Amino acid sequence: MALDLSTWTRPDRGALFVITGASGTGKTTLVKKALQVIPELGFSVSATTRPERVGEKDGEDYHFVDQARFAELVDGGQMLEWAEVYGNRYGTPRAPVDAALAGGRSILLEIDQQGARQVRAAMADAISIFVLPPSFDALERRLRRRATDSEAVIARRLSEARLQIEHCGEFDYLVVNDDLSSAHDQFQAVIVAELRRRSRLDSLVRRFVAGAEDPATPVV
Ligand code: ADP
Ligand code: 5GP
Repeated sequence: MALDLSTWTRPDRGALFVITGASGTGKTTLVKKALQVIPELGFSVSATTRPERVGEKDGEDYHFVDQARFAELVDGGQMLEWAEVYGNRYGTPRAPVDAALAGGRSILLEIDQQGARQVRAAMADAISIFVLPPSFDALERRLRRRATDSEAVIARRLSEARLQIEHCGEFDYLVVNDDLSSAHDQFQAVIVAELRRRSRLDSLVRRFVAGAEDPATPVV
């Protein structure tokens, strides 16, 4: 069943979603579809020092930068968070996240568990989602099928995957990506439910409830 949100009521306040999971668990696949289906959801394009993969676009998948430029961004306080993952540096530029939230829009960060921890410390109401593979065997098959990394890189990603997955207990929501269609449904359901919170829909309450001028007024 396809989710149809084309006529839904916009939330007044956006949310910051943090998506984490070991490489190859399907984060990018889930995120890309959610961005198509859920209106007003934006994606934070990270900066990275890792080389561009075939099919990736600079400025769309990542901002591909060299070590010197990355250090400049960190030193200038322009990163909301950053971490070294699999030998490369990755970071979230702060300005687009601030701009989205200030404008009432929601934004999705696809980052590792070190970065997720930094964001949770800086922004207490961030919503964190961890994507799990059905098993380690399945994860290995997916990394091989993607066929964009060398054998040595795949082996390293698998051993680091176990370290990432050990942190899944720190997250608000867990989505197991076994059957892809079910995983899309679970992932989008979490985002939609968070955007339907009454605390994000003050103007909707005011439209229907006489005297509900104060958004904090409990509505029974
Ligand atoms: P990540 O962003 O977490 O590194 P990707 O979204 O790039 O992962 O997915 C890794 C590979 O696994 C891709 O080739 C993708 O098409 C495939 N994949 C994702 N989800 C599933 C699934 N549920 N079943 C089978 N293959 C999947
Ligand atoms: P990949 O190289 O497969 O695109 O990503 C490798 C890892 O880096 C993934 O775990 C991904 O979530 C993480 N990552 C991507 N962007 C960022 C970022 O901006 N910050 C942090 N901390 N991790 C990131």
